Amino acid sequence: RRAEFAAMRDLPPVTVDGRRITLMVNAGLRDDVAALDITGADGIGLFRTEFQFLVSATLPQRERQQRLYRDVLDAAGDRPVIFRTVDIGGDKTLPYMNQGDLAEEENPAMGWRAIRLALDRDALMKAQARALIEAAAGRVLYVMFPMVSEPWEFDAAQALFETQRRWIADRNRLLPTAIRYGTMLEVPALAEMLDVLLPRLDFLSIGTNDLTQFLFAADRSHPKLAERFDWLSPAILRFLSRVTNTTDKAGIPVGVCGEMGGRSLEAMALVGLGIERLSITPAAIGPVKAMIRTLDAAKLRAAMAGWLAEGAHDMRDRLTTWADAEGV
Ligand code: PEP
Ligand code: MG
Repeated sequence: RRAEFAAMRDLPPVTVDGRRITLMVNAGLRDDVAALDITGADGIGLFRTEFQFLVSATLPQRERQQRLYRDVLDAAGDRPVIFRTVDIGGDKTLPYMNQGDLAEEENPAMGWRAIRLALDRDALMKAQARALIEAAAGRVLYVMFPMVSEPWEFDAAQALFETQRRWIADRNRLLPTAIRYGTMLEVPALAEMLDVLLPRLDFLSIGTNDLTQFLFAADRSHPKLAERFDWLSPAILRFLSRVTNTTDKAGIPVGVCGEMGGRSLEAMALVGLGIERLSITPAAIGPVKAMIRTLDAAKLRAAMAGWLAEGAHDMRDRLTTWADAEGV
């Protein structure tokens, strides 16, 4: 079906009932940006900036970071790129970083990583903030923070960026036309604080990889657990449904950038929960777009609401049967 997907490159991801779904790609390296033109995606919904740090033999200095960000923005043109600040630490250790600090952790996924490390060792994030702000001069900069667990972490990270913005402004250098701040929702505790946090955000992006790991207390890379917990379990879908209701009420755009969105049936379920922004692996754009273009989202939404209220344990089967019957 490759050719069929390629032929859809310029067709919009619109459902049968007229919902325009935003389909973006996940990326992390300079070359990944080519996927935008190949797939016809709406932008980069997750640019994992730690990749540059992970593939480098030495700590990438600010100028090198800035060059990468500028190249990515230039290649993206007027399509948005959401840069996620570094998610290192935990199991993503860097050989050139202070090993004393990044000593072996018993639970690296739940350890000193991402925004936790970035706020404690803020020289790294200050340099990254300056690199991003300068790279996005004259255009909109989208920044997203990983592993935020409490609203104050978002505030502190945003304040750090704003300080850098002022520093650059004081030197009369060209600034981004705007900076839009968002956070990932991948730590369940944050979901309980959305009423407090959402008014301060420009967007929210759900990281279903870490989120499911923490919801089920199940290591996302453990081979014996890989098949045990289902993204289509009612627990996850109910959780996502509650989050979406809250973001809808607050009028804050919400998307999913975890691997879940790259599987057609899972993506269908997400749209059925009212999630209309997906950032997925480039190879999934064709199949997911094909699914969207045959889907009646409102009809699915009504069906799913009933199944979830019931607590149906066999959501995967029900969704599969529904999709077959509806010709999705
Ligand atoms: C996630 O956790 O779902 C996510 C998108 O981030 P990463 O896979 O980089 O942890
Ligand atoms: Mg994550």
